[in-house]
Amino acid sequence: MSDTFRQLPQIHALLESAQASPLVVRYGRGVVAHALRTRLDEIREALRSGREATPPEFLTTHFFATVEATITAGRTRSLRRVINATGIIIHTNIGRALLAPEALEAIQDAGRSYSNLELDLATGARSSRHVHVEALLRELTGAEAAVVVNNCAAAVLACLTCIAAGREVVASRGELIEIGGSFRMPDVIAQSGARLREVGATNKTRLADYEAAIGPETAVLLKSHTSNFRIVGFTAKASRRELAALAHSKGVVMVEDLGSGVLIDLSRFGLVDEPVVRDILQEGVDLVMFSGDKLLGGPQCGVIAGRAALVAKLKSHPIVRAMRIDKLSLAALEATLRLYQAPNDPLEKIPVLRTLAERMVTVKARAERLALSVATVPGLGVEIVESTAYAGGGALPQQDLQSFAVALNTPSLSAEAMASRARTGDPAVLGRIRDGKFCLDVRAVLDSEIPDIARAIQQALAP
Ligand SMILES: *Cc1c(COP(=O)(O)O)cnc(C)c1O
Repeated sequence: MSDTFRQLPQIHALLESAQASPLVVRYGRGVVAHALRTRLDEIREALRSGREATPPEFLTTHFFATVEATITAGRTRSLRRVINATGIIIHTNIGRALLAPEALEAIQDAGRSYSNLELDLATGARSSRHVHVEALLRELTGAEAAVVVNNCAAAVLACLTCIAAGREVVASRGELIEIGGSFRMPDVIAQSGARLREVGATNKTRLADYEAAIGPETAVLLKSHTSNFRIVGFTAKASRRELAALAHSKGVVMVEDLGSGVLIDLSRFGLVDEPVVRDILQEGVDLVMFSGDKLLGGPQCGVIAGRAALVAKLKSHPIVRAMRIDKLSLAALEATLRLYQAPNDPLEKIPVLRTLAERMVTVKARAERLALSVATVPGLGVEIVESTAYAGGGALPQQDLQSFAVALNTPSLSAEAMASRARTGDPAVLGRIRDGKFCLDVRAVLDSEIPDIARAIQQALAP
């Protein structure tokens, strides 16, 4: 074994070889040396693990082609397009909400030119970046004031740090959520410097439980949206209105981590489980926090909306400054919020809402077009099947959306193998496996992506 390792050439010798010289001319010595080191490490590892019995021939065109492949792999974009045929519309792992063209244009403008990000053009004085969305958020939610940070997790942390540090946060044992990426409410509360006072039991927390727990140390009564699970059976919980009234009678701030956050009523699409931000504030919640890139359909960010005095306190706190929204997301957020203003119809203009609200005939027609287009791939079995889609992103977890999928099968590959090849293709196509078949749910697929899917599947299935 150690003899095998001794046979590996020195990087220096490889770098001086005739085969290396065109690469050195093209990419420079340092880059080629780095790629050689990476390749030798890979070869050493392959020998050590027994994957390879002998080292390759080094002074060959083939070896230097692998060195060049290593260099170019490091130069292609790591963040790449993925086609979402999973049926999960707000899928955190693949980037959640798609943005409206208006939001994309706003991002381009904000990136390409200088802007009045923090400048009042009328007076020439410095101003706050929050002004660009605050009036819109007030109009759309009925809040007195609002401030926007990086994401909803940051909003919760910032809010509790600012309002409850050194004091107590009362929360139900049924709402001590963990959401994706290990965001655990008890940990967030601890991180904020507040102390968690748990009340009730997993399935039942009554108003009286909160009442008994509130004392002179209590700063916040926290309600959280149980985004990704439901407690069913013998359950009890206090209403939001009751909780807010209790909080106010005790001089405590009522805060709600809403997670997704919808600005309009989606119940006419059968999407009944998501409370509207405006209603929550009307029911007496002092501060509500929600994501920009879930059901709202905008960029990643976290909105904190509610009482003016509390928002003013947040705005002047260093943690909010440290977590403030960046200019590109701010541009996209403003543009997205404007699509909620009349005469725009958000259900038409905002991709997430359009996809959620899309009628079955439209979804089916897309499935038919996709089926036709992949049917040209030789040896591929294609059928249209009924499917179930989900909002995702912790919204409406139990709410199934009817959908259609194109199920693919081929005698030469298992469904898993097909899924893996499609996932590693270009563009990557992400489907799901159902009943032993590789299925492409078309609910979140764009019409414009159908030719790309057909091409990617054809490549993926080529021998
Ligand atoms: C998604 C979610 C969050 C975190 O939102 P991010 O924008 O991903 O940081 C927090 N709380 C709840 C209830 C959520 O559903």
